[in-house]
Amino acid sequence: MSAKLAPHPYDSPIFDMACQQFDKVADFLELPDAMRDRLKMPKRAFSVAVPIKRDDGSTSVYMGYRVQHHLTLGPTKGGIRYHPEVTLGEVAALAMWMSWKCALTGLPYGGAKGGIACAPHELSLTELERLTRRYTQELIPIIGPQVDIPAPDVGTNEQVMAWIMDAYSIHQGHAVPGVVTGKPVLLGGSLGRREATGRGVAYLVSRAMDVLKINASDCTAVVQGYGNVGSVAAQSLARQGVKVIAVSDAGGGVQNSKGLDLQALDEHVAKHKTVAGFAGGDPVSNEELLLIPCDVLVPAALERQITAKNAGKIQCRILAEGANGPTTPEADAILAQRPEVFVIPDILCNSGGVVVSYFEWVQDLQSFFWDEGEIMNKLYRILEKAFNQTVTFSKKRNVDMRTAALSLGVQRVFEGKQTRGLFP
Ligand code: NAD
Repeated sequence: MSAKLAPHPYDSPIFDMACQQFDKVADFLELPDAMRDRLKMPKRAFSVAVPIKRDDGSTSVYMGYRVQHHLTLGPTKGGIRYHPEVTLGEVAALAMWMSWKCALTGLPYGGAKGGIACAPHELSLTELERLTRRYTQELIPIIGPQVDIPAPDVGTNEQVMAWIMDAYSIHQGHAVPGVVTGKPVLLGGSLGRREATGRGVAYLVSRAMDVLKINASDCTAVVQGYGNVGSVAAQSLARQGVKVIAVSDAGGGVQNSKGLDLQALDEHVAKHKTVAGFAGGDPVSNEELLLIPCDVLVPAALERQITAKNAGKIQCRILAEGANGPTTPEADAILAQRPEVFVIPDILCNSGGVVVSYFEWVQDLQSFFWDEGEIMNKLYRILEKAFNQTVTFSKKRNVDMRTAALSLGVQRVFEGKQTRGLFP
């Protein structure tokens, strides 16, 4: 066990959860004590008050954060979240998970994450733009194509990335597309980036089905969080022949045991900004949704949804973690006693997003852009390798899939740190 950490500013249930996962893996890998806190504690954390002028002439101040978890293997990489519950501790946990995810998939990055504690839907477009530009201005000393490259996460999108790219580029005096990924294609974004995370989830679900020897066309799926990741995962699963029987978002959920008409649902969402109220199904709460019997359950919203309370009751064969940190360590202990549930852990399951972000960054750096077929082929090759390595590790070492995926990621960062040595 590592010595007790000095007091730190990350105290939160989510950071605690990421630490518990790390400690378990560090024990399993028998990592030397001297390395544990170096691997675990974020290298840098930035916290900033972001003032903006509101449309009514008043001023509001929002708290913004950026955490860079480790700088050992290259620049740092990770999304920016706009959500009322963003805290430094949450951002630090998400940054740590990004580190293990990038290492698992072999990307030359450390993990990072950022966010602003705000309710984006309560801001006008111009307020959102001012907030994003001011936050970016504050981040300028610590981001850049060779330093730290943000991307979209909950509550942010291509437009937000375009504003970040613009604010940073104005400061540099020339266009710097490589400072963010998940930009519009017109500004140096990559084809397939917006869909990459959800498509990756569906690809890995199909690989899990191969392992379990079940057919997509015999399967049903339930998706919590019909945002970027969840909606694309649902559509991709449907294209594979899976029947999507329930979905939800922050506004509520909808279910139909005969299968939801996703095209009609998307039209409803475009109009009403929520799946709630969709006429092609019956209402269902987010709590009930997780317990619906199905073959594939995709949590694609926020952290800590599968808990000690419901882990014994979920009724799926594949738990495909589209979200980061959807399953608590207590729930993991329960799932460990339920071998009938095949878990595709978050750092593997949703890694398609950062993989195509990496392709976007590479394309920006060389100003040479690939077609979508090439991008998807390269993405699936990387996911295939990471999936096979995780399954093999899990079987060989007789550990669950999360421990296997985290072990592969943590071990690579550990070796990187050990090989580089400790300065001075
Ligand atoms: P998003 O903002 O596009 O969508 C989030 C969705 O979750 C929204 O539909 C929102 O209404 C819903 N939601 C929020 N609270 C909810 C609740 N309590 N119950 C049910 N639904 C709720 O965000 P996103 O980019 O799709 O991210 C979703 C998850 O995937 C997050 O955990 C994020 O960190 C993770 N992720 C995203 C990417 C990416 O490329 N965007 C990559 C990897 C992981």
